[in-house]
Amino acid sequence: MTNGTPITLEIFKGEDEKLAGTTITKFAKAGITTMEQLAYSTPREMVELTGISIKTAEKAVLLAQQIINPGFITADILHSRLDQVTKCSTGSKQFDRILGGGISVGVITELIGEYSSGKTQTCFTLSVLAPLPRERGGLGGKVVFIDTEGTFEKGGTERLIQIAKARGIDPDEALKNIIWARAYNSVHQHTLIQNLDGICREHDVKLVIVDSMLAHLRGEYLGRGTLAERQGLLGGMLGKLLRLAGANKVAIVLTNQVQAKVDGSGAYGDPNQAAGGHVMAHACTIRCRFWKGRANTRLVSVIDSSYLPEEKVRVAITEAGITDEDGSFEEITEDDGFLETCVELEKVMNLPLPIKEEDETSD
Ligand code: ATP
Ligand code: MG
Repeated sequence: MTNGTPITLEIFKGEDEKLAGTTITKFAKAGITTMEQLAYSTPREMVELTGISIKTAEKAVLLAQQIINPGFITADILHSRLDQVTKCSTGSKQFDRILGGGISVGVITELIGEYSSGKTQTCFTLSVLAPLPRERGGLGGKVVFIDTEGTFEKGGTERLIQIAKARGIDPDEALKNIIWARAYNSVHQHTLIQNLDGICREHDVKLVIVDSMLAHLRGEYLGRGTLAERQGLLGGMLGKLLRLAGANKVAIVLTNQVQAKVDGSGAYGDPNQAAGGHVMAHACTIRCRFWKGRANTRLVSVIDSSYLPEEKVRVAITEAGITDEDGSFEEITEDDGFLETCVELEKVMNLPLPIKEEDETSD
């Protein structure tokens, strides 16, 4: 089920008499059932999906935008809305902390780094954790994984099983919750992304991963003469992902490699920069930079953020995927929350704290 304000005839009637019930039926057949989905679409997309006229589509999109977004709002209302944003754990408490709680739904998060810096390992860990219920650090929905490098076929599924087992998650369930597609080239990747709406609705997807976003584009479009075409294709894919994130309340995670800076600015700071230029930088709300560290550790920082501090934390790659530096991660057991509840009860009713069995035997 897609969350949001349902499209009903009543809503349209009040605003525009001409939008008949048949239009709503056409929307429903195409899987467009909420005002949010409509508001984040372009009229052209609606025409392609439903066969309605461009004029009706323009009216419908505009109306939906007016209904879900009344225009200016005070910052306190915005703040309370943002406070409710659901976050998915990365697997490391430290990494979650610098992200303000984890990977957010509704926006695009970019994982940037050199080869072997931990981007795919983060995607794998997120894929295992996202289907967990919210109280266990997940988003409570399925994951779509668009794999441009064939990682799944090169041992990726075994790795997912290993991460799930290490975290006490049923590995069969974990694999069933991940919907995988291999993108064979940039046009194929574009088609897969354009078709995400239906898949996300049908399977209640809460996280979409593209690993890696730029690999095909960089390999296929060589030389400066092809740059405009390449950036156009990239912009089309990012636009679709942004609308999907906003309309369906999905978290989007993209990976990206780095390339040497060519404008000389690298002499002072990081000699490398994320690929994809301004098009990529503008679409991605949260950008995480990875660096290789000693042994199995990696350094991660949130860069270019207007509200998150640029603090580097150390994480580790272990059998449980991405974890804290010392290999620890949030372990959730069946009775988690039990003691907290008791503490609350004790406060309210002045009851003595019960002692857990394992506490009695431990020294
Ligand atoms: P690329 O740009 O090449 O795709 P990446 O950033 O996606 O690189 P990852 O695949 O995330 O790289 O990380 C690879 C690293 O993860 C390697 O150093 C590898 O040793 C480590 N790794 C992979 N599997 C395990 C595992 N089961 N246990 C511990 N470390 C592992
Ligand atoms: Mg990778």
